[in-house]
Amino acid sequence: MDIVVIGAGIVGAACAFHAASAGLGVTVLDRGPVGAGTTSRGEGNILLSDKEPGPELELARLSRDLWDEAGEELGPGKVEFENKGGLVAASTPEGLAALHAFAARQAAAGIQTERVDRLDAFEPHIAPGLPGGVHYPQDAQVQPVLAASGLLRAAVRRGARVRTGEALAAVTGTDGRVTGVRTADGAVLAADAVVNAAGTWGGEVGRRLGAPVAILPRRGFVLVTEPLPPMIRHKVYSADYVAHVASSDEGLETSCVVEGTRAGTILIGASRERVGFDTTMNPAVVALLAAQACRLFPFLRDVHLIRAYRGFRPYCPDHLPVVGPDPRVPGVLHACGHEGAGIGLAPGTGALITAQLLGRPWRGADPAAHTGLLPDRFLTTGGVPK
Ligand SMILES: Cc1cc2nc3c(=O)[nH]c(=O)nc-3n(C[C@H](O)[C@H](O)[C@H](O)COP(=O)(O)OP(=O)(O)OC[C@H]3O[C@@H](n4cnc5c(N)ncnc54)[C@H](O)[C@@H]3O)c2cc1C
Repeated sequence: MDIVVIGAGIVGAACAFHAASAGLGVTVLDRGPVGAGTTSRGEGNILLSDKEPGPELELARLSRDLWDEAGEELGPGKVEFENKGGLVAASTPEGLAALHAFAARQAAAGIQTERVDRLDAFEPHIAPGLPGGVHYPQDAQVQPVLAASGLLRAAVRRGARVRTGEALAAVTGTDGRVTGVRTADGAVLAADAVVNAAGTWGGEVGRRLGAPVAILPRRGFVLVTEPLPPMIRHKVYSADYVAHVASSDEGLETSCVVEGTRAGTILIGASRERVGFDTTMNPAVVALLAAQACRLFPFLRDVHLIRAYRGFRPYCPDHLPVVGPDPRVPGVLHACGHEGAGIGLAPGTGALITAQLLGRPWRGADPAAHTGLLPDRFLTTGGVPK
């Protein structure tokens, strides 16, 4: 079977890697360079800690196992893969009780959680006086662009082809069945199936494939400090982050996630705003994120920011990615809408798409276990998830 994957971000790369590993003929098409979409605009958190039990957590668990495998294949150092664990810190006793209740539900779903009374035993520089938190040893970190390009290189070693600088124009087909795609330059690529891994642009690509899906942009800013000696050991974030991830509020939400990188810089994320594809810098958001980070780690007050960048998370109104065959156009599969978790969820998505193409489980991905992510959920509601 030959497939075309639209999008050379982390999700398209993971789809290509798994499909090529399974022996499928794979061509990856991107209108820009590898990893230049949202994959280059976020952080590299691989989180189980922020996910409610349900379809997304199941995909995250699968992905977490596959990240270990991918890290080994790509070379952990080469993609800055670190099993560093996450620490969620509550700021009030009520917040701590809610966090404990959330963690208990996750533990029942098979996630490793550990109550922490003394946060400074995990993070010596964290603000004093915080009531406690939860440690999630399975949380990890990767450098997203290095990971996407590493996965694509591994796919190419298995026979995949990558065509950058070429945009999808339309799907081709006969008798209602996909036969390939046509690029904006007029090239025709024959394929038995097309995978929409176009991230935030998955809605537009879905339309071109005759299978629209409701994917929208959710803007986020990330701040970067000057390089420092190691000061922060885990991924550390405040307990209200989880509520903001799941929220559907239109307005600005900020709750900081703080983490060190191999280069010594500290990344401070991440705001959430629904402002379309507005690329304007918002100094008020930068100031809010910085203030929250300083409350969590007071030493940051004396540290310089060297830059801030922003990106657009691809979100579905029901906050779940869309992964699977589109019943309206046989041969079209979607793998998009991963919002603020696409780096973490990429390997599981690639394995699940491959399993759906093969019609049997692949690398622990059983299509029957992930039906909550199928695009079917769009169809009864006129294109908008229930
Ligand atoms: C501020 C911020 C922080 C984040 N932090 C994290 C985090 O810590 N952990 C995490 O897991 N996730 C995080 N994310 C989310 C994560 O970055 C995304 O979910 C992920 O990058 C999506 O990857 P993708 O491959 O689906 O999309 P993309 O990386 O956007 O790739 C899609 C590709 O499709 C291509 N494309 C679009 N249209 C066409 C066309 N017509 N023809 C050909 N190609 C096309 C684009 O050029 C692009 O390269 C964050 C996001 C933001 C904005």
